[in-house]
Amino acid sequence: VNGKTAKASKEINQAAVLGAGIMGGGIAFQSASKGTPIIMKDIADKALDLGMSEASKLLTKRVDRKKMKPAKMAQVLSSIRPTLNYGDFANVNVVVEAVVENQKVKQSVLAEVEDKVTEGTVLASNTSTISITKLAEALKRPQDFAGMHFFNPVHMMPLVEVIRGEKTSDETVGTLVAYAQKMGKTPIVVNDCPGFLVNRVLFPYFGGFGMLMRDGADFQAVDKVMQKFGWPMGPAYLMDVVGIDTGVHAAEVMAEGYPERMQYDFKDASTVMFENDRYGQKNGVGFYKYE
Ligand code: NAD
Repeated sequence: VNGKTAKASKEINQAAVLGAGIMGGGIAFQSASKGTPIIMKDIADKALDLGMSEASKLLTKRVDRKKMKPAKMAQVLSSIRPTLNYGDFANVNVVVEAVVENQKVKQSVLAEVEDKVTEGTVLASNTSTISITKLAEALKRPQDFAGMHFFNPVHMMPLVEVIRGEKTSDETVGTLVAYAQKMGKTPIVVNDCPGFLVNRVLFPYFGGFGMLMRDGADFQAVDKVMQKFGWPMGPAYLMDVVGIDTGVHAAEVMAEGYPERMQYDFKDASTVMFENDRYGQKNGVGFYKYE
């Protein structure tokens, strides 16, 4: 953890998120719920519809439980603007990229958005594992770029890792810390390396689960045991929630980052599921089946 106190910087009145998937949709919901309007850009109409309907479901639950007035629900929904293009990006203070976990795709999306925003706009990546310094190589203004790593589900998980790349400025870190706090989260500032802090703890756990599976363990039994142990969910269910595609891409980055420490079997259960388009909850089937 990098304990340096960052300078507070400019106010965040308008945000944007790239990607309307599990994380992009969650970030949009949380930002809007806590008073920062957000533009949510994707490349697929279907993804935008899904992102908006998830936000609407979460808000309806709050209204039903009398934790929110219907007028507030309408106001929150209207402050998430779904779009397929970069119109109005000139007015945003911060952009969080949450597209697929692939270095090349992220670098091209980040370089593209850098040209659409005004100088001084902070860019952040929600990558789970990819080095921020590496992603910054695609940018003209790497000082305005850092990691901002939320956890899933965004509206429930309090922690946000703010990752300082080699060239990230103190002001950029300050802006992202302030934005995370405005979203009701607990930011920690960490240095850059594959997996940052939380995923360096989590991946050995998944590795241990893989080892059990290779020894013939039943994943449902392992899930039950870990719940009895006190964890909210077991490893197989957690992979389904995260997205098996995302997990496999992240595991590749971790194996490349720590070749002597992370033994990654590229033919483990999750890889086989990935090859068979079983991505978990997002497409209805992973370790488990979903309605
Ligand atoms: P997802 O597959 O649910 O969503 C990705 C979205 O990005 C899709 O809607 C896709 O259409 C969109 N997209 C692809 N290319 C795009 C582009 N060029 N411009 C705009 N949108 C584009 O994935 P996710 O689970 O939301 O993960 C997104 C990022 O967040 C990844 O980097 C992942 O590692 C990270 N992350 C995921 C989790 C998790 O538990 N799922 C947790 C923390 C961080």
